Amino acid sequence: MPIYFDHNATTPLDPRVLEAMLPYLSDAAYGNPSSVHRYGRAARQALDEARAQVAALVSAEATQIIFTSGGTEADNLALKGFAARYPDRRLLVSEIEHAAVLEPVRALARQGRAVEWIPVDGEGRVDMAAFDALLARGNVGLVSIMHANNETGVIQDIPAVAARVHAAGAALHCDAVQTAGKRLLDFNFLGAQMLTLSAHKIRGPRGVGALVLDKTLELEPLQQGGGQEKGLRGGTENLAAIVGFGRAAELAAAELALRAAQAQALRERLEAGLRRIPGVVIFGAGAERLPNTVQFGTPGFESETLLMALDRKGIAVSSGSACHSGKTEPSHVLLAMGVEPALALSAIRVSLGQDNTLEQVDRFLETYRGIVQGISAALPGRAALS
Ligand code: PLP
Repeated sequence: MPIYFDHNATTPLDPRVLEAMLPYLSDAAYGNPSSVHRYGRAARQALDEARAQVAALVSAEATQIIFTSGGTEADNLALKGFAARYPDRRLLVSEIEHAAVLEPVRALARQGRAVEWIPVDGEGRVDMAAFDALLARGNVGLVSIMHANNETGVIQDIPAVAARVHAAGAALHCDAVQTAGKRLLDFNFLGAQMLTLSAHKIRGPRGVGALVLDKTLELEPLQQGGGQEKGLRGGTENLAAIVGFGRAAELAAAELALRAAQAQALRERLEAGLRRIPGVVIFGAGAERLPNTVQFGTPGFESETLLMALDRKGIAVSSGSACHSGKTEPSHVLLAMGVEPALALSAIRVSLGQDNTLEQVDRFLETYRGIVQGISAALPGRAALS
């Protein structure tokens, strides 16, 4: 049986989510939520319910949810929407963000916007002293720092970040795509004005997400049209996907503690096994991390080779961010943490999900050990493993 260990890239659709979506993909429920007749009203009701379900996952108000086509669009809306509204303010962004934040920020920098990068320490946590120094220079408009990193799983202390950001008179955007459904999230407690979410990381459909937006913050829309989503995201809503997102959020909230405990037990077994393999380094091991994520390196090996060998044995993992697979440059996250490029090039990310088992973890460990031993034997000069 194949093993899927890549849940930070995407998760399988929960059958209960599919069931909730099906009427909106058939002729049972096909109204446009903007129409005033009964079809429209039924669709509007479904949209409102999904909005409330997604809001409940992060203890926000339903009116704070702006549905988008996914985490990438929500990140773009937060950053570009803010930058367009407040053109003269500085932007501070952490070095370890996902491409969905990095790329729009780089595009803004190319257009002449003042962008500065916030460094992290060796465990992948924001360097608070460097952050304070950047804030102290004044005129900061927006800070963007992710909640949990998609590669290492390292979690940032967002309430502490938010306190500093607010004292500096700035706003905070937090990409919580990887934290939602894995950890309790409370929009007000976190203190961010904008929070990014994505459905397909919580067993919902791909292609739908949300920006949770504090009503006091004004953004320029990226997409104008019929005034949907408070004028911030024009276009007839993808109702089936939104309904699926709502149901996935509801299930994630109800099963959060169980899912987190299961993942944590698997991760502990996995890490104990990895530590017995000579040379293996677990990245961010000294920091608080997501219960389901382990990223590790094995000196002398290349992640692409290991990944393909694991794939041939029926085990799906990632070498880092799935959005970067195919590229052979070391992970920008690991480089920002000061990991040597050669070690970073050996990185493998295992991200566990609720269908994974202890037997699968054991099989992975046995297979991985066999692969590195096989490569070592075939290629003299490689790190010797016993
Ligand atoms: N932000 C983070 C931290 C992610 O891990 C991802 C997906 O990998 C995204 C944003 C992008 O979300 P989506 O795939 O819904 O566009």
